[in-house]
Amino acid sequence: MLKIGSHVNYTSQEGLLGCVKETLENQGTTFMFYTGAPQNTKRSAIDLEKLEAAKKLLEANDMKLSDIIVHAPYIINLANRKEEDKWQFSISFLEEEVRRVNTFGLSYLVLHPGSHVGEGSLVGIKNIIDALNLVFERTKDIPVMILLETMAGKGTEIGKTLEELEEIIKGVKDQQRIGICLDTCHLNDAGYDIKDFDSFLEQFEQKFPLSLIHCVHINDSKNEKGSHKDRHENFGFGTIGFDTLIHIVYHKKLEQVPKILETPYINHTYSPYKKEIQMIREQVFDKNLFQEEKATI
Ligand code: FE
Ligand code: FE
Ligand code: ZN
Repeated sequence: MLKIGSHVNYTSQEGLLGCVKETLENQGTTFMFYTGAPQNTKRSAIDLEKLEAAKKLLEANDMKLSDIIVHAPYIINLANRKEEDKWQFSISFLEEEVRRVNTFGLSYLVLHPGSHVGEGSLVGIKNIIDALNLVFERTKDIPVMILLETMAGKGTEIGKTLEELEEIIKGVKDQQRIGICLDTCHLNDAGYDIKDFDSFLEQFEQKFPLSLIHCVHINDSKNEKGSHKDRHENFGFGTIGFDTLIHIVYHKKLEQVPKILETPYINHTYSPYKKEIQMIREQVFDKNLFQEEKATI
């Protein structure tokens, strides 16, 4: 079964149940969500009754909890320790988030490694390692894995090269709990030639086993390779292109890995995911896919 889905909305009223419903509406088989607003750390209590209903609905539709991904809020920054209290806050929040993921019965939490904000990559990487080790220590018995996302290298972002991810992962004491999330837009913007994806995977395998990859963010890019911009484009409509993205979605070596769309809404209004998922299933590019939505400005 093709593991395809998108980022979906999580609301405090509907919780995970709303995410499952949105995914079914889009005919996805998996999904990713933030447990609250991505830009803040306000989180509401998990409604256990609704959670049970969500699990039943998942099961009835052959979806697996182990394919569902949580994304940590992007205000967490483990790389910058200029202000100790802010760094400690990021660590505490990430710790809580790991516990929350476990309460949902889920296994994977995607994290942006962080931005060093002038402290330099070496210091930034050390800060990330120290932070991750603290989080893992404080959540010792919790079987939640943190997936470091490959980044575009915007500003002072760390994680724009496989070498940086390798440094971080080498420093993590609990190797069972660290993995990787590939983001195709970010890889392109960071300068990797993913049009030759098989060569990229070879390069990857020289550093890590492919089994470290537990999620792929399958986005096109608005910008050229190496631009360090990080602006996502709809599937097939950007500089990466339909054929490359389809090749990645259907790649035998990544068959078991959930593919998650984080492509932009059309005119900031219409969700593109149902149509994109349908097009991915048909494997034929439709340049007029969003014609109707685009005409409604
Ligand atoms: Fe991300
Ligand atoms: Fe992403
Ligand atoms: Zn991005």
